Amino acid sequence: MKTWDVIVIGGGIIGLSLSIALRKRGATVLVVERGEPGREASHAAGGMLVDCPLETPPVLQSLATASARLYPEFAHELEVESGMKVDLRDYGTILFLSQEHLEHLALTTPPIRPAPLSAAELEQLEPELSKAFSDDAEMESFRQDCGVEQSLDQTKEFFRAIRGRALYLKERSIDPRALTAAAFQTAKNRGVDFSSGDPVTEVDMNDGRVAGVTTTKTSFVAPKVVNCAGAWSGQIGPQAFPTRPVKGQMLCLAMPSRTLLKHVIRSPEAYLIPRSDGRLLVGATIEEAGFDKRTVPATIQHLHRAALMLVPKLKDAKILEDWAGLRPGTPDALPILGATATPGYYVATGHFRDGILLAPITAQVMADVIGGRSLEHDLTPFSPSRF
Ligand SMILES: Cc1cc2nc3c(=O)[nH]c(=O)nc-3n(C[C@H](O)[C@H](O)[C@H](O)COP(=O)(O)OP(=O)(O)OC[C@H]3O[C@@H](n4cnc5c(N)ncnc54)[C@H](O)[C@@H]3O)c2cc1C
Repeated sequence: MKTWDVIVIGGGIIGLSLSIALRKRGATVLVVERGEPGREASHAAGGMLVDCPLETPPVLQSLATASARLYPEFAHELEVESGMKVDLRDYGTILFLSQEHLEHLALTTPPIRPAPLSAAELEQLEPELSKAFSDDAEMESFRQDCGVEQSLDQTKEFFRAIRGRALYLKERSIDPRALTAAAFQTAKNRGVDFSSGDPVTEVDMNDGRVAGVTTTKTSFVAPKVVNCAGAWSGQIGPQAFPTRPVKGQMLCLAMPSRTLLKHVIRSPEAYLIPRSDGRLLVGATIEEAGFDKRTVPATIQHLHRAALMLVPKLKDAKILEDWAGLRPGTPDALPILGATATPGYYVATGHFRDGILLAPITAQVMADVIGGRSLEHDLTPFSPSRF
């Protein structure tokens, strides 16, 4: 009977990246995926590689920065090995600070003093972003044109609030669907085995330690098992991880020209992520809705209007698609990474809003943990035993 050194449960970006890192270190690996690899949260994501002290939880900052730095090499390697493009973009992000950001800024020690972009700088970076309105009549006609649902006063307040609060951030973005497809192909090329279509129902034990997994159809044998099942991680024994699904709805527009927007734009109402092929992703809600992946037309319309408020030229842009995905959330909004109390059982889950960003560093540190190597990063804040 065939056996493996490590079984990875779940073929999202976390499981796929880890399987490649383990193969590189010489381990034989089987990924057991209940559906098709890369079709859940990793397929639904926007692909912003957010590395910003205003938005990243402080204890996650060093992992986030390390992962952001690994990205060019990570993406290049996947492109070369898979022969697929992953659309890593390096134009940066324009962040419109929210009230929450400002409150956060006031509390930071040492204080962070970001330098806001002037109107001229903003216009030079993204000429199609909404500009100042000369009078109420101009704003009213903009509201009518874009079908803005907020009142004139609310619209005025929106523009007053974001004007003078735009920052430029040196962040990258990537196409998560292309990334997971490239990671899947790379894993196969490197000899990772896959079982797709049947869920793991149990982690098998022998003499108090892990012996493999059982699916609805069969069993697979390995002395080490890693739970990378995203929002579903908590459903698989022998240890109950407190993961939960956090729903995000998004839509995708076809920009009237491929270069209409270059930067990722994040505003309090919505974020916009341009792709090199002319698509523009608009996201995203953060909802506690259980395992429900349906989109709600009114919510998609709200996001669409928020995009038009930011970039009026999107008025005639066609909606190509909308969807919802389930982020793997945890009680403290931090990932769960490391060895569990059960010998041979490991976990890499709970990446919430940052799983695409954190994939390269997660693969590296988890391959080190599983291989018994010393770690460059302190994983204590992410320990599975903290709950
Ligand atoms: C709308 C939205 C926008 C996002 N935007 C960003 C962003 O801009 N930047 C960023 O970094 N992150 C973003 N994220 C978060 C990111 O998508 C996730 O953190 C990341 O994809 C998690 O990867 P994963 O591999 O853990 O989970 P998943 O991709 O969900 O993979 C888990 C896999 O496990 C499988 N599985 C589950 N149960 C079993 C079982 N019993 N047996 C076998 N297989 C099983 C599932 O089928 C699935 O394929 C976003 C997420 C959403 C939903």
